[in-house]
Amino acid sequence: MARHLRWGRIARRVRDVMATRTALLSMLGGLIFLCFLASAFMERSVRQLTLNQQVFSDREIRNGFVSMSDLQRLMAVAQEGAVRGGLDAAGRDAFIEATDILFVRRDFFAQNVTNADAARHAEDAIAALSAMIAIADAAIQSDFAAMDQTWSALVPVANEARRALVQFQEVVTRFQNALMQDQAEAVRQQRLVLLSALVAVSVIGAAAILLLRREVMTRLAQERAEQHVEFLAYFDPLTKLPNRAQFQKRLDNFLLQAEPIALVLLDLDEFKTINDTYGHAAGDAVLMRVGQLLQVYAAQCDGFAARLGGDEFAMVLRTGNVDSLISTCELLLQEAREGLSFEGEAVQIGLSIGFVTSVQLGPDVPRTVDALCRVADFALYSSKSSGRGRLTQYNRVLEVQYFERRTVVDSLPRAIGNDELDVYLQPKVMLPGQEVYGFEALVRWVRKDRMIQPQELIRIAEESGLIFELDRYVLDVATREIGIFNRANEGRLAISVNLSALHFNSSRIAVWVEKALLASGLSPELLTLEITETAELRDWEKARRIIGELRSLGVRISIDDFGTGYSSLSYLRSAIVDEVKIDRSIVDQIETSDEARFLLDGILDIAGNLGLGVVVEGVETPAQASILNDMGAERAQGFLFGRPAPLREAMEALKLPPPKGRRSGTG
Ligand code: C2E
Ligand code: CA
Ligand code: CA
Repeated sequence: MARHLRWGRIARRVRDVMATRTALLSMLGGLIFLCFLASAFMERSVRQLTLNQQVFSDREIRNGFVSMSDLQRLMAVAQEGAVRGGLDAAGRDAFIEATDILFVRRDFFAQNVTNADAARHAEDAIAALSAMIAIADAAIQSDFAAMDQTWSALVPVANEARRALVQFQEVVTRFQNALMQDQAEAVRQQRLVLLSALVAVSVIGAAAILLLRREVMTRLAQERAEQHVEFLAYFDPLTKLPNRAQFQKRLDNFLLQAEPIALVLLDLDEFKTINDTYGHAAGDAVLMRVGQLLQVYAAQCDGFAARLGGDEFAMVLRTGNVDSLISTCELLLQEAREGLSFEGEAVQIGLSIGFVTSVQLGPDVPRTVDALCRVADFALYSSKSSGRGRLTQYNRVLEVQYFERRTVVDSLPRAIGNDELDVYLQPKVMLPGQEVYGFEALVRWVRKDRMIQPQELIRIAEESGLIFELDRYVLDVATREIGIFNRANEGRLAISVNLSALHFNSSRIAVWVEKALLASGLSPELLTLEITETAELRDWEKARRIIGELRSLGVRISIDDFGTGYSSLSYLRSAIVDEVKIDRSIVDQIETSDEARFLLDGILDIAGNLGLGVVVEGVETPAQASILNDMGAERAQGFLFGRPAPLREAMEALKLPPPKGRRSGTG
């Protein structure tokens, strides 16, 4: 999927670049076209101007005025000669010079005038000037003999020449004005062209910018959407850690490299309880906190952390050093235990950890993601089942244990259905005489000639949900057999049956107990149900209701393992139990520890005041029995009085007078 996304992105980028280039090229093309247009316009007006300029200079408009003044000069000298009746040497020279100049002016007109309007007047002027030159030449030839005649001949032609020159000059002036206007018009046109070009460039530019902007925005939005999809596909949205898919991919990459690596699997203990007790927001906060911690620790070992789902996490670290791994994990456990404060409440985080390093793997374990996860899982499972909050490293034995456990789980339902489980009974006695007043029923399972440890069996049954059937089986068998025994012997033997705390989530257990009482005909007050308080029993209100239902059937409720971490005196005061069963760990210390004696004394005192029965369990020595007796304990249970024994054997023994110092059974 990642590869697919990457190619898609590259293809789109190429397309974007092409689109952008097209937009830019079109804009550039537009600009070049505009420049071309503008320069064509300007070129045209410049050409027009130069053309006009040429015509303008060719005309030599000053020629009109100059010719006029030159003409005046000749007339002035001629008039002087006429008035004085002749010319002196200087006058003559001036006359000749003025005539020569006039000659030049006339030739100028003849050669250079092109404008048709002006040319007409120029021709008139040329004709008049030629006439004047001819008269002046004749006077020069005659050595200025008759200046008065010369003067009178010159006057009319000079007038004629003046008129032609004035008219010529008017045409030229008109032309000059038109030229000025042309120039102004050209400038105006240029300005217009430039202005339009500017506007067009701005419009095209703005359009191009908008186009590019839109493209960029769409691309960004697309990229963001892609990133989000990619994120969801590969990351956990809550902790922002890689998810299982990404974890597998990256672990695979790590495995491809030759360096040693470690896989650490982590599981939150009783996460469900955190959710139920503090709410889901607290649960989320815990997950995020764990995510942060793992990220920090993983980064220290050049590795990464991932959330595999629910309350399962993992770290992949670049190390093969088991000792440093253990200390890292211990620090992590410590930090997790410190927990976090959620809305003012301290929430503790319990973690179970299992790890394996690639160095620890046997040659038969392939270096694959699946194989590594499987063996790390054995270690994690072992941590979880040996009391939680622990750290276990992988070894071969775990694997064997794991498979044993699996087969136990797989064959337990059939074992219950086929009556393969055994019920053992352990006597409960009255002190000091030690007469047996009842039994505790304890389950046993011999599978393939090996007895599965009861505690292990109960844990597996609780984990796999088979505990309900198991407890019901023991309840049915024990009540049935004690019922039969009591009827046959007219006795009043009591029976205690253990119930897992898991029963206290539903009223079903009350129905089962009622049925068992009916079927066995046992008096309800002879049945005691032993409950151990565990984390599962935290929803005390619900448990209280179900305990109430059970007690209303007339059966007794006993708090088992009293005096261990979980149980508290508040149960005694809650007045919903009938008996406390003092844990073996207290009796163990009773000979050596004042504290244990004080505790026992206190419990006996309170129980006495509240009218509760007290059973002290785990009595192994006569010395313990005698201390208990001195302290006023009335009921006891322990190897001293009898080990758990198969049901028939235990009841048979009751009928016979017990031999001295007898120890029965296999418990
Ligand atoms: P528990 O209810 O505290 O049962 C007493 C345990 O202490 C029994 O272990 C018994 O064999 C042992 N014990 C009795 N007297 C002595 C003694 O003097 N010294 C020593 N060292 N041990 C003594 P067991 O049979 O292995 O049972 C272990 C636990 O398994 C029980 O502890 C109980 O919590 C659970 N369990 C057993 N049977 C059942 C059952 O049918 N249903 C349920 N839910 N739990 C059961
Ligand atoms: Ca018990
Ligand atoms: Ca107990």
